[in-house]
Amino acid sequence: MKTGRGGWDGGVSKLFSHIIGQELAVALLSRALEQGAAHAYLLCGPSGVQKMDAALAFAAGLVCAQGGCGECNACRRVREGLHPDVELVTPAGNLFRVEEVREAITHHAAYRPFEADSRAKVFIVTEAEALRGVQGEPANHLLKTLEEPPRHVYFILVADRLEDVIPTLVSRCQVVEFRPVPAPLIAGDLVARHGLSFAEASLIARVAEGDLEYARELADEEEARRRRDRLLDLARDLPAAGLIQTEAAADAALALAEEGAPNLETRMTEELERRLQWAADAREREWLKKRHDQLLKRRLRRLRTERLVMLTRVFAGWYRDLALVSLGAEAAVLNQDRLEELRASAVPGCLPAYHRAVLVVRRTRDRLRYNVDARCTIGDMFRSIKEALTEWPMS
Ligand SMILES: [Zn+2]
Repeated sequence: MKTGRGGWDGGVSKLFSHIIGQELAVALLSRALEQGAAHAYLLCGPSGVQKMDAALAFAAGLVCAQGGCGECNACRRVREGLHPDVELVTPAGNLFRVEEVREAITHHAAYRPFEADSRAKVFIVTEAEALRGVQGEPANHLLKTLEEPPRHVYFILVADRLEDVIPTLVSRCQVVEFRPVPAPLIAGDLVARHGLSFAEASLIARVAEGDLEYARELADEEEARRRRDRLLDLARDLPAAGLIQTEAAADAALALAEEGAPNLETRMTEELERRLQWAADAREREWLKKRHDQLLKRRLRRLRTERLVMLTRVFAGWYRDLALVSLGAEAAVLNQDRLEELRASAVPGCLPAYHRAVLVVRRTRDRLRYNVDARCTIGDMFRSIKEALTEWPMS
């Protein structure tokens, strides 16, 4: 292993020290910084596993004059998403529009870095799946830019599912895979950083199923725990609900997924106010405001996607738990804090019905990834689960 400037024992390891449970991805990105990076990377893996954190850390390594010291002003600003030589490219809607890509990438890619000591200009495309919206000549132009960018330009694409990214894009990128974070690592993080007891941390780590960010949210926010409880109640009550109650339950579930994030907005706005006080001039203040709007927009979009994923996860978890309890396999249950209710609800011999309910939820999750009407899709899910559970003889 090399050491010294930017080596394994030097700064590069500092850059990624906050990334948990992604040894392979971190090793690939660290080596790229050491030995010379390719021009296009695709970071993909499930939501909540720090892909964006890793993309920003990698970008810091590319921009930093010391090759990724992890400590200088440039490294710090890149990792906070506040460096002018790291552009965040985020679609306004579900798909990128041609003008957005032209404006953000193909138009700017030739520009020299903005700051004198930057070594690179980096474009982070935050939802690479949405590039499906760009077709024809503009798509060819984008592919060509990815293939032969100006020497100082790098692209980092981020996506939840590799199969949803246009294959011609994938083939032009180095693919870096992120994996669900193992439960013991999540539990360790919750104990060390969030001060939870081992028992609480283990329960949340199990429920989060590899999604570190969801686990942290459950650990930190009363509201997140309340949302989970409400969704579990809805899943529990669904088999006995009438038609009107089922529709009301679907409305309630969607409302929970679409709840705003006052904490997030307040926190980010306070952060902006602080930065504005330190800004050198009117131009920098202008830029900071623009970047703030971009970051907030991205976080809110992500939030809605993640909440919809979370909704389906809670439902799938509940019916899988019922199946496990009906089999007598209680040790494998995810929602250990609801074991009593699961015992009361589980009907022995209903395994195929629970299995069908879980399949319904999985299909819903896949549909929600595309540009579908969420209310309609969730309504369908509720009705189909009811069907699956009531058609089966429950005694
Ligand atoms: Zn640095």
